Amino acid sequence: MDGYTRTCGLIGNPVEHTMSPAIHNTLAGELGENLVYVPFRVPAAGVGDAVRGAFALNILGLNVTVPYKSEVIPFLKELDPLAAQIGAVNTLVREPEGYKGYNTDMHGLYRAMCGDGVGIEGENVLILGAGGVARAVAILAARYGAARIVILNRTLEKAQKVAEEVNRTFGPGLAQALGAGAYASLLPGEEKFLAIQATNVGMFPRTEEAVIEDPGLYRKIHTGYDLIFNPPETRFMTLVRENGGRAFNGLKMLLYQGIIAHELWTGASVDEALAEKAFTEMKRAMHLE
Ligand code: NAP
Repeated sequence: MDGYTRTCGLIGNPVEHTMSPAIHNTLAGELGENLVYVPFRVPAAGVGDAVRGAFALNILGLNVTVPYKSEVIPFLKELDPLAAQIGAVNTLVREPEGYKGYNTDMHGLYRAMCGDGVGIEGENVLILGAGGVARAVAILAARYGAARIVILNRTLEKAQKVAEEVNRTFGPGLAQALGAGAYASLLPGEEKFLAIQATNVGMFPRTEEAVIEDPGLYRKIHTGYDLIFNPPETRFMTLVRENGGRAFNGLKMLLYQGIIAHELWTGASVDEALAEKAFTEMKRAMHLE
């Protein structure tokens, strides 16, 4: 580090378990950039001060994590259209007058899917959950041309709200809401689903749980993504595989949201060989390597 070193970082609370320093410091080292990435724990109600302070300190870019992904928006100069639609920002990019907000979580999921050879266009997409991430996934699926989107959630009203929003923006009838107990209505018929597990169920330490256990539902899934990455093999993934589908965890989404943020900050282009190096370092930091 010297007088020219640029700083990027993460704001959130807590931030101690983040894997982002492993991703960004590996990328910076490999790309020969004079850049460091550090976590900043921001106390409740401190996000405005943090954004203003970061700008004053000439910080190049920030990631934003829980609980500030929506709260940060009023403090930005500009918002990328996808982030505006989703209502959540995880990346701030320095512009002359302030920060511009992006949502690279969803671009990250999409890039991970492309890498796995999984497309969205024309697919029947089944989303488990209707929280912040599930809502973003529903918007992503609609934007990338899903034929049908089913949102299945324990609390039906939340699924209905997401489905209504998708239908209002992308056309009536595209999205449908179901309460978790109503999944049986999906079982008849030949069509298969690309399923995205976007609930907290199955996350460490309750690793033996899945939202739905019925193998009948899993036989309808040709590809399943669990956005959970701890544990790396979830009960949902096991059930998908046991019933003939392909299953992926959320680790690559985590990797690519970071890579896309890094590309936005520095203008660099991260190829797959470098992405793999960052992936190895990320997994090492998670004690998975
Ligand atoms: P959230 O807004 O809190 O939503 C949680 C969702 O889980 C809701 O739909 C909730 O249902 C459901 N849920 C929670 N406990 C449940 C239970 N016992 N039974 C059935 N459903 C239950 O959370 P989020 O921010 O959207 O995050 C969702 C997941 O995405 C998390 O697992 C997180 O780790 C993952 N994620 C991954 C990445 C990545 O990079 N891979 C990034 C961000 C998030 P109700 O509506 O009924 O409460």
